[in-house]
Amino acid sequence: MHGVVLASKKRVDVREFPDPYPGPNEVVIETKASALCRSDLSTYHGESVLEEKDEKKEEVIILGHEPCGIVKEIGPNVKDLEEGERVAVYLAIGCSHCKYCRSGYFMLCPKRKCIGDDVHGGNADLLLVPAENCLKIPEGMSFVEGALSTDKVGTLYHAVKRLGISGRDKVAIFGVGPMGSVGALIAKAFGAVVYVVDSVESRLYLMNKLGIDQQIDASQYDPVKVIQDLTKGEGVDVAIDCSGNPIAENNALNSVKKLGRVAFIGESKKLVIDPSNQLI
Ligand SMILES: [Zn+2]
Ligand SMILES: [Zn+2]
Repeated sequence: MHGVVLASKKRVDVREFPDPYPGPNEVVIETKASALCRSDLSTYHGESVLEEKDEKKEEVIILGHEPCGIVKEIGPNVKDLEEGERVAVYLAIGCSHCKYCRSGYFMLCPKRKCIGDDVHGGNADLLLVPAENCLKIPEGMSFVEGALSTDKVGTLYHAVKRLGISGRDKVAIFGVGPMGSVGALIAKAFGAVVYVVDSVESRLYLMNKLGIDQQIDASQYDPVKVIQDLTKGEGVDVAIDCSGNPIAENNALNSVKKLGRVAFIGESKKLVIDPSNQLI
């Protein structure tokens, strides 16, 4: 089979790999779609905020942690999947036994592996994964939509649920690239009034077209001031940063009301905050 690898900084190669075959509790997926993540771009440019890889590691890993496809082959003991079924693949592989895995949080498992990073990912003809990582997708959902549902939509859906966002809330989202824009749509679907902040005009235009309540251009206005004005000086109930930019992260903390909720989704390495003023 063919697989896409990062040969070196800013160089992507298509290479030949042996076809995988499924062991116990595993399946092989014929990949139909595999989304590009912002983290792939950072890795490509050599600017990843994730922990550095061991350079001496010889095995080259096929990229792609947001895949979707058709079950091609089933290993022993797999009970609830059949060949030909359409599935999206969840990215984190856990040990299946620890308290995190048993409560569904594979990504918090101390032995966690990530497809497209620790083991071969979905940018290939075929993908070998544990059967429990396969999420059946409904008839009307395309493979591309299925791929996007795993990381982009899944991460923000989970954040919105954890934050308890509802029709009682005003929510500000900082950074509306793929993640933030999905978060805005999900928060809106949960009934919240949603303000989005970005400095890229085309993103704000799209948010306006998709019915988001208020777009704030951070290149023109001070977003904290605009949000304070919109909320009569009180601040929003919830602020979510999806940019990883320390200025936006501080703006999120400064925009939220007392007893508000804040989530940082965008990855960043360092952040200086002012706890006495921002958290108390
Ligand atoms: Zn991702
Ligand atoms: Zn585990």
